Amino acid sequence: MGESIPFAMNRSQGAQFDNLLPNKHNTPALGKLLPYHDRTGGCISPLRKTLGDATPTIMDTNPQNTLGRWLTGPRVGTLPSPNSLPPPKLSFEFFPPKNDKLEADLWTCIRRLESLNPRFVSVTYGAGGSTRSRTHDTVARLVSESTLTPAAHLTCVGATREEVDEVARAYWAAGVRHIVALRGDPPAGASSYTPHPGGYAQAEDLVRGLRRIADFDISVGAYPETHPAALSADFDLDYFKRKMDAGADRAITQYFFDTDVYLRFLDRCHAAGITLPIVPGILPVSNFIQVKRFSAMCGASVPAWLEKLFEGLEDDENTRRMVAATVAAEQVRILQANGVDEFHFYTLNRPDLTFAIAHILGARPAMAA
Ligand code: FAD
Repeated sequence: MGESIPFAMNRSQGAQFDNLLPNKHNTPALGKLLPYHDRTGGCISPLRKTLGDATPTIMDTNPQNTLGRWLTGPRVGTLPSPNSLPPPKLSFEFFPPKNDKLEADLWTCIRRLESLNPRFVSVTYGAGGSTRSRTHDTVARLVSESTLTPAAHLTCVGATREEVDEVARAYWAAGVRHIVALRGDPPAGASSYTPHPGGYAQAEDLVRGLRRIADFDISVGAYPETHPAALSADFDLDYFKRKMDAGADRAITQYFFDTDVYLRFLDRCHAAGITLPIVPGILPVSNFIQVKRFSAMCGASVPAWLEKLFEGLEDDENTRRMVAATVAAEQVRILQANGVDEFHFYTLNRPDLTFAIAHILGARPAMAA
């Protein structure tokens, strides 16, 4: 065969190739490039011509059909091959179980994801500190019964500085070296956050407090779409920089669905002088209705295209899961193509979607020795 046209083309190749294709406006330049343009609005396939086929083929450029759209629409190159990228750095978030059955489920989830050798796994702290001992027990079990590096979420809500410091010291004594330091959400029933009179007011203060206690690895939260209670987007970014400068090692973002939301946030952080890692938080959507409700509270936008994708699947869990895997796979592959090599998954204590998406990113279970 003569010269072939790879579907995978980079932007500049795509742009050159665009010049060979007719567009909807049928510009004079294209007339020149496509001498076989016929009078009925059809044209010679540039593909056939480039492939060396001497026989002219007439194609309909009607944008209502696939060939017409391919000839007249935008060019989209393929994403990079998984072989061309190193495996990503992964971390997984779990929440502490409420009862024995849920604990067994969590450990099934942990065992499955453990094989992917994540950098760390984090365990949340219930709103208002409501899971303090369950979080501690889960983290302690991770230390003693797994090969994983646990990160304990810790919040400022409803506790004095001394109480929070005590929890942090207990973690250090138990061998826990990584804390996800958060202001925390108000307890159930409270509409807004009020700092405890003797407590750390914001995550920034907690980060400083932790730095005084021990040499923790510290992650903090980040909000690509601005924290819902922020005075303004600029205030939020200034505050985020202060929080990072207070001694954080990285930030983990609130989940988002449009990759542009995260990438534009990185641009803004870079312009503000933030250079520490900002790990995207990925939420595979297993229950769209729940996610929509939760997103309204935490300020994450739910794009109309996502709603459309889950439309009519309320009672069809199997299809929902397949759609969810596809959506998240697209999201992470676009991020990966943009240079992102670390991902934090909100697992909701369910391993399958996270495992599948991590696999697509190039992660593989560690080989047995
Ligand atoms: P902060 O960073 O301290 O501040 C939140 C916002 O308040 C800032 O963005 C800023 O706009 C504003 N602000 C800061 N200082 C001031 C000021 N002086 N005056 C006015 N406004 C100010 N919640 C839990 O309860 N448990 C968890 O385990 C948990 N895990 C999370 C993990 C991740 C990765 C993320 C992103 C969030 C998590 N959350 C958790 C939710 C989090 O606690 C809430 O989003 C909370 O409302 C803010 O916490 P923060 O640490 O980001 O707060």
